[in-house]
Amino acid sequence: MKKVEVNDFLNKLLTDYLIYAPKKKEGKIKVSQISDKSEIDWSGDLPLNSFKVLFLPTVEELGTFEKNKFIENKNAPRPKVAWCLNILDLQAFTLFEHVFEKDVYYQKRRKNTYVVGFSNGLPDDFRKYKAFHQTFEEDILEHVCFDVFIERQKNNNYLFFAGSDKGQDLLESNGVNDFENIEFAGLVPEKGMNPRLVSNREAVAISQNDKLWDELAEICLSCGKCSTVCPTCFCFDSFDEPGADAITKKRRWSSCFYSEFSETAGGNKELDSIKKRLYFWYYHKFVRIPDELSYYGCVGCGRCTKVCPVGINIQNNLQRLQKSKK
Ligand code: SF4
Ligand code: SF4
Repeated sequence: MKKVEVNDFLNKLLTDYLIYAPKKKEGKIKVSQISDKSEIDWSGDLPLNSFKVLFLPTVEELGTFEKNKFIENKNAPRPKVAWCLNILDLQAFTLFEHVFEKDVYYQKRRKNTYVVGFSNGLPDDFRKYKAFHQTFEEDILEHVCFDVFIERQKNNNYLFFAGSDKGQDLLESNGVNDFENIEFAGLVPEKGMNPRLVSNREAVAISQNDKLWDELAEICLSCGKCSTVCPTCFCFDSFDEPGADAITKKRRWSSCFYSEFSETAGGNKELDSIKKRLYFWYYHKFVRIPDELSYYGCVGCGRCTKVCPVGINIQNNLQRLQKSKK
């Protein structure tokens, strides 16, 4: 398929859906709503923000209490397309699909959202395989959730994949008939969990008394910027907002870096120091999520490092814990 056909597909989508895609502005790539296909950044580079706000809004209304009855917010979100998620963001989205599997608000939004993944050519590593597409599909595409995936090849050809019935319908009803179906084969590839995931899990699990945490606690501001940009952070607070006739129940993003995060009745805080909160963040991502789902709690996008005002670098910290383990 050629670029012109991809553009036709996109033009058709633009008439029916709100489209959110990576957009370059003043040298920075950010996920934003677009009104024309020319606004899209096709580099495949990671945007500064992630797509998570499309699946978990910063604040959302869950429903209202009226005369002792809870009335669920049934407003259907407008149909939209999340366009050009690269593999790391698709992995983060795949985690959300599992974490929010039974969350009615998430599911309602998901029903009205098409997820389109994109790869701007395969990483060089894959080039050495004779049948590299086979490997790419089996090792990667079969283990991430998406509706449509588009791969741009070096000769400027585009390959289309459908990852769900919904994705297949979207392609066919918008003039794309040349695509391959990919069936989700579970979170873990046949050859087992990624060894890097296993080794990071071990390093973090045994590190509670490592002096790294004291050193980081000395400089960390507990500002929560890292979890705001992190595509896999999904914690939220729920709260009630009193109105004239009803009480509205809402939820909003939260972060385990916030001092009130672990507060329980009576004012007790389990995470009562920055050191404990830092370790909790790493433990959740590298131990608890892999233990529960055998999947990544961190996809290695590096966004947290980019925004940290004091230069805390997740990759360096993991390397250091790996060394301490030996
Ligand atoms: S962004 Fe940096 S300073 Fe802020 S909470 Fe995260 S690690 Fe701490
Ligand atoms: S690298 Fe940082 S921002 Fe990216 S997934 Fe991991 S913890 Fe989140």
